[in-house]
Amino acid sequence: MLGAGIVGVSVALHLQKRGLSVALVDRRGPGEETSFGNAGVIEGNTVFPPAFPRGLGALLRVALKRAPEVNYHLLFLPRVAPWLLAYRTGSRPERLIETARLMRPLYARALAEHEVLLTESGALRFLRKEGWLKIYRSEERFAALKPELDLAREFGLPFSAMDADGARVLEPSLAPVFRRAVHWQNAANLTNPLAVTQAYAARFAALGGEFIAGDARTLSRVGTRWKVETKDGALDAEAAVIALGPWAPDVLEKFGIRLPLGIKRGYHRHFRSAGNAALKRPVGDMDNGYALAPMEQGIRLTTGVEFAARDAPPTPVQFGRLLPAAKALFPLGEPVEPTPWMGSRPCFSDSRPAIGRAPGQPGLWLAFGHAHWGLTLGPATGRLIAEMMTDAVPFCDPVPYSAERFA
Ligand SMILES: Cc1cc2nc3c(=O)[nH]c(=O)nc-3n(C[C@H](O)[C@H](O)[C@H](O)COP(=O)(O)OP(=O)(O)OC[C@H]3O[C@@H](n4cnc5c(N)ncnc54)[C@H](O)[C@@H]3O)c2cc1C
Repeated sequence: MLGAGIVGVSVALHLQKRGLSVALVDRRGPGEETSFGNAGVIEGNTVFPPAFPRGLGALLRVALKRAPEVNYHLLFLPRVAPWLLAYRTGSRPERLIETARLMRPLYARALAEHEVLLTESGALRFLRKEGWLKIYRSEERFAALKPELDLAREFGLPFSAMDADGARVLEPSLAPVFRRAVHWQNAANLTNPLAVTQAYAARFAALGGEFIAGDARTLSRVGTRWKVETKDGALDAEAAVIALGPWAPDVLEKFGIRLPLGIKRGYHRHFRSAGNAALKRPVGDMDNGYALAPMEQGIRLTTGVEFAARDAPPTPVQFGRLLPAAKALFPLGEPVEPTPWMGSRPCFSDSRPAIGRAPGQPGLWLAFGHAHWGLTLGPATGRLIAEMMTDAVPFCDPVPYSAERFA
């Protein structure tokens, strides 16, 4: 297993549970990269993925850097343009419906699979099952949700649409600066995503799995086997799984596998609550693209998207644009850390991950590209790929997630 984010750790644990001998290799500790900094939402109710802005007005706001939910580095735009065009195509109404249908089996298992791993890892104390609340500041924005809510009803996903007063019964610390809200009851959240990934890794180790420091870029094929250099020397295995999140292309391109993985960078910062204000569940401000999530460290404010090179220095300008709106919604106090955290969501333009065999490389498997919902989908992905690798009947059809779709 190469990569010990929430996806890699979940895959490793599922493989170890099925009796395979598994080594988990990462250059850092488990869960310390993208899986460290998310909003902690386990959102098995996801219907439509985040979409490319629709309409000239929305696009202009982004282009003029007036939209708090998106930022970009101008010099990066030519490089990301082909991906953005494909993303725009993937965001057409009929494509969003198709994606929702293809992703449903995976999302449907998301929370249940987390609960299995949380229970056996002794980490249930991090789980809250209070749903999540999305707020809408205008009637128009809420009205635009209709196709998504219709599909949610068809899928049998419970939700309650309400006005600001209704939402403030659930979250009394929110100010009535919004018109509408939707409470997705069956969503859950984790109050410390890093600790959860570490708990899954500890469970993996307790079952006999080995965690070893090493650089996945040393992966090579030796005959029919796979070899990687680690701090304990060379490791060779019958199969290798790439779960390197946004770093997957660094390894795959060496083997001639070029998949159109994009990056959506995102930031977080913790704030103390002013007075005795509190949140019971994560809250998404859908007009401004940020979330406020109750974490052990404080209220975690996670930003929307930044299109910039993965390794370019952080430019957390979105905080300046969205903090006035966030502070008007919830009484945020002092920041906890001196600087924001940054991570990179690994995203395919069709908002589906790559799970399954690597094209043209027997024994090489892929589990990455979970975009905005990798924390949610880690354990379900772990189960699916472990079932595929052990020739068990997979719990859902894996074909929509195959990397062959890019051939
Ligand atoms: C601001 C923000 C908010 C988010 N909110 C949510 C949310 O509320 N809910 C949700 O479900 N998802 C959320 N996400 C998305 C989620 O965090 C990601 O999809 C998920 O963490 C990806 O996990 P991963 O295991 O694929 O990648 P990672 O966690 O990045 O793991 C990849 C691992 O590969 C390792 N690695 C890289 N290169 C090498 C190398 N050369 N050698 C060895 N090891 C290497 C890294 O050290 C890392 O440990 C959010 C993301 C962001 C940025």
